[in-house]
Amino acid sequence: MRAAALPCAFVLVLAGCGVNSHDARTSPGDFAAAREWMVREQLAARGIRDERVLDAMRRVPRHELVPESQRAHAYADRPLPIGEGQTISQPYIVAAMSEAAKLEGTERVLEVGTGSGYQAAVLAELASEVYTIELEPELAARAKADLERLGYRNLQTRTGDGYAGWPEAAPFDAIVVTAAPDHVPPALVEQLAVGGRLVIPVGGRWSQELLVVTKTADGVVQRRLMPVRFVPLRSDPDE
Ligand code: SAH
Repeated sequence: MRAAALPCAFVLVLAGCGVNSHDARTSPGDFAAAREWMVREQLAARGIRDERVLDAMRRVPRHELVPESQRAHAYADRPLPIGEGQTISQPYIVAAMSEAAKLEGTERVLEVGTGSGYQAAVLAELASEVYTIELEPELAARAKADLERLGYRNLQTRTGDGYAGWPEAAPFDAIVVTAAPDHVPPALVEQLAVGGRLVIPVGGRWSQELLVVTKTADGVVQRRLMPVRFVPLRSDPDE
């Protein structure tokens, strides 16, 4: 039953069906209303409990971080293309990863896979310092400009291969990885503070498990959150 239903769902999404009426709103007031709806229906109703995460996602203007052609769909319940074959995650996944990072406002956080800059902006609302690294130079440049325009001052961007983390800024209280490797990169565990959380999708090309790896004084503790599907964590072609 389930196996038969999946290809259908795929075809529907490709055909642009299953997109709700909040998809096509475009005026500033409508964007705010769509954002409120997103928080209520996609996040709170599905179990996101951290009020700081819900508030952060009420504030960050997701429509200003997606390409112009995707603006009308910015608050839709799905990932969106952001160019260079990459995607911005579905809002629920951004919320779940942010919640799993357990941020109270004082933390130093690393994100691997800046993409549009949306997850980085949400993290910047939740923590004290955010470092975000993107392999694709065009995406990195666009996100940097957009995040500066939106006024995020507690955030630093870099172009490079995040597999190796950002050693100069370590240790991090949390690391959020938004592209999927097939194993946990050792450098990222190394760059976690004791007590720090690494939130990372791990698996093959088409499906992965979202893991929370917590560093303790004696090693690491690993917990599975949910099945997910991210673009692959690629390696730097120049290295
Ligand atoms: N967090 C993003 C979603 C990004 S999609 C957002 O909120 O929009 C994953 C991103 O990871 C892509 O932009 C991709 O180019 C980038 N990426 C893939 N491999 C990488 C690597 N090794 N280091 C850094 N970024 C990488």
